[in-house]
Amino acid sequence: MDRVVLYRAPTTEAGIDETADWLEERLASSVDAPVVVRDRFLDVHRTDELAERLAEARVRSPYDRETGNTMLGTVRYEERVLESPDRGGGVLYDGLQVQRALNEAMIPDERVLETLHVAILDRAIGTWGEHDGRWHKRVNVLGQPALVSVPGLYEAPAKPERYYKEKQQHALLSGDSPPREVLENRVEGEFLIEDDPRTTEVVKGYVLQAMNYLLNGTPFCDDPRCRLFNAHRHEGVIEAQLREPTFCPEHAELYGRDRTEPASE
Ligand SMILES: [Zn+2]
Repeated sequence: MDRVVLYRAPTTEAGIDETADWLEERLASSVDAPVVVRDRFLDVHRTDELAERLAEARVRSPYDRETGNTMLGTVRYEERVLESPDRGGGVLYDGLQVQRALNEAMIPDERVLETLHVAILDRAIGTWGEHDGRWHKRVNVLGQPALVSVPGLYEAPAKPERYYKEKQQHALLSGDSPPREVLENRVEGEFLIEDDPRTTEVVKGYVLQAMNYLLNGTPFCDDPRCRLFNAHRHEGVIEAQLREPTFCPEHAELYGRDRTEPASE
């Protein structure tokens, strides 16, 4: 791997310049690849087909394997959101289809494997679960380009049990869902909220997972304290991404120790 390209997600809290600096430092002792930052992937690699490809990738319902709605109105909607990203939201896309569409949108010279492209997205993406017949939201989809979904950080991991109980109770009493802010204030426990100020810090670990997949054939680590841990719950995301230590001993060898940690005991 010669180079890493990160793409900004300007409608989100994710600070991509800071992420790039961190990543470059982490790669310094192994591949020593430069990490460059570009604007939004969907702007840099825009093609005429992109809106239709996104419309095809829309998940129709949580339990329906078939995706896509290419009615004119939907394609127009996708065109509008490509132009004005802050008008999007509320749509789940098949992450693998989006990845294929973005791969095809790149010019062939860009698709070389020596450069890893990581598209940070402001869209929710999912993958189909063959085992349980439903869509699951994801934070990242590995490959070329790798996708990292910022809404996925807030929505994909399971929240504390109490969150769902509060939501259910509120629905029983009032017949509707409580506002997000109400739940977030009422529920104890650790989870990331939408536009969380810790977003950039957490994004770093998910970008590194995409890198580790390319370098070592496996994205994840079994150690729940490590940045490469594939957490399924918010408490796990916080443990892996925000608490010390940064890495397990094995990955600390590879990606460097914390500056604040002594180099040896
Ligand atoms: Zn590890």
